[in-house]
Amino acid sequence: MQTVLITGANKSIGFETAKQLAAQGYFVFLGSRDIKKGEAAADQLKAAGYSQVQAVQINVADPASVAAAKDTVSKQISSLDILINNAGIMGGYQQMPSAISPDVLHEVFNTNFFGAVHVTQAFMELLKKSGAPRIVNVTSGLASLTLHSDPAWKYYAIKSAAYGPSKTALNAYTVALAYELRDTAFKINAVDPGYTATDFNQHRGTGSVENAARIIVKYALTGADGPTGKYFSNDINGESDESPW
Ligand code: NAP
Repeated sequence: MQTVLITGANKSIGFETAKQLAAQGYFVFLGSRDIKKGEAAADQLKAAGYSQVQAVQINVADPASVAAAKDTVSKQISSLDILINNAGIMGGYQQMPSAISPDVLHEVFNTNFFGAVHVTQAFMELLKKSGAPRIVNVTSGLASLTLHSDPAWKYYAIKSAAYGPSKTALNAYTVALAYELRDTAFKINAVDPGYTATDFNQHRGTGSVENAARIIVKYALTGADGPTGKYFSNDINGESDESPW
């Protein structure tokens, strides 16, 4: 059976990604920092006919929780096919570079960057046992330094001292890890789901969770000849989803 772990899967984009992969026949470990919320989400999917789902407690910002999740999952499966590092936080909208509080900066990086790295490292052994391991790091258009340097970009004014930079760091990690594993079957990509209506932005986003999950699933299921070490976005108009770094 093909298996996937999604962090922050108890709601929003992570939950919809879980649903779409369960619909494709994957066994989905629904990562949730609150196990009760994860179990409620798993029950919701089971009620909708997706029986191959299980909640796993994982707070990506807590290395002990990540290690415990790895132990739990390792007892049930011998290989992991897909890891989706989806859990993320904005850290509020007061992120002036000259004045941001170090606490906010650390909290955002602990979740969006260090969290994703810890989870990736913890599950690397199981991923290496898959015949076709895939990692999707859920990033943001706000990670793009090229777009942030273009005054014509529609989100040019949306600068942040913590959130954007934490995703830029995640992009850099994606490139480095993909390079390290370039001669293996791994495909590791950074994917921006686009500005999506979720709790993350008080539902001001313009896209749907269905469409956001679609691009994450697309790169989670990329084939043996698919890309690795690339950055894709739902917000790019054109034939390719590829985003400038
Ligand atoms: P969301 O509605 O706020 O959901 C975020 C999920 O991450 C929730 O399940 C949340 O759990 C979980 N989470 C947060 N911190 C965590 C931690 N320390 N450990 C484990 N789980 C944690 O956000 P979303 O819109 O679905 O965003 C999902 C991803 O897409 C994020 O990485 C975000 O940066 C990215 N993204 C979103 C947008 C957008 O417009 N929505 C655009 C670009 C990129 P709780 O329920 O316990 O809080």
